[in-house]
Amino acid sequence: MSIKIFDTHAHYDDESFDEDREEVLKRQFDLGVNKILNCAIDIDSCKNTIILTEKYDFIYGACGIHPSYSKDYYKTSYINDLFEYHRNNKILAVGEIGLDYFYKDLDVSIQKEIFKEQLALSKEINKPVVIHCRDAHYDTLNIIKEFMPLRGVIHCFSGSVDIAKEWVKLGFYLGIGGVVTFKNAVKIIEVVKEIPTKYLLTETDCPYLSPVPLRGKRNESINIEHIIRKISEAKNADFYKIVDTLYENASKFLNL
Ligand SMILES: [Zn+2]
Repeated sequence: MSIKIFDTHAHYDDESFDEDREEVLKRQFDLGVNKILNCAIDIDSCKNTIILTEKYDFIYGACGIHPSYSKDYYKTSYINDLFEYHRNNKILAVGEIGLDYFYKDLDVSIQKEIFKEQLALSKEINKPVVIHCRDAHYDTLNIIKEFMPLRGVIHCFSGSVDIAKEWVKLGFYLGIGGVVTFKNAVKIIEVVKEIPTKYLLTETDCPYLSPVPLRGKRNESINIEHIIRKISEAKNADFYKIVDTLYENASKFLNL
């Protein structure tokens, strides 16, 4: 029996799908994945995301510049490009944008500027944001408080319960992916237990972060079933009820 699956964070434009993208996406649809939000990482990725949304009814897009590529767009007119892409009615969010302090070679002040410019864009066009936040919880929180976008998700949330509560206080969603199924996933399991289901979203971040028992393999949206199972176990709640709530959350987040 297939269940309702909404993948709120996928990268099907990634080159690892170049050989068999059509086959993979057909499989997701045939197996019952209802909706996918493909998240762009740079300008080329925005263009390819739009192509995917035009080709497949069940794919929607987020357009934005990932912090890893921020220096490529610093002091350029990329915001005008993003503004144009966002005229498309299948582009539902600004993302993925944010801060990444894990890689030390990424200039922090440039990251912040690109992040803020895109948050300002999200306010101007009234769309939610998809946030990438790695080892940068407090700076991300402070910048978000300054801009207060319409709605947002902290994708692949990796913080503590206390930080999770801070985000929820701002009305933000937490993206829960394959990491929740890992053996050492103590922290994220605590978060899932403590935070009400209405603040959680399901995601793959595919091709990355395959859940157990598929670790190491290329990830795809249908694998979200393993993530939902883990969430329902952690919450000691009925699986199908959790399926419905998570699906409703994603629809609400993207206003679908
Ligand atoms: Zn991503």
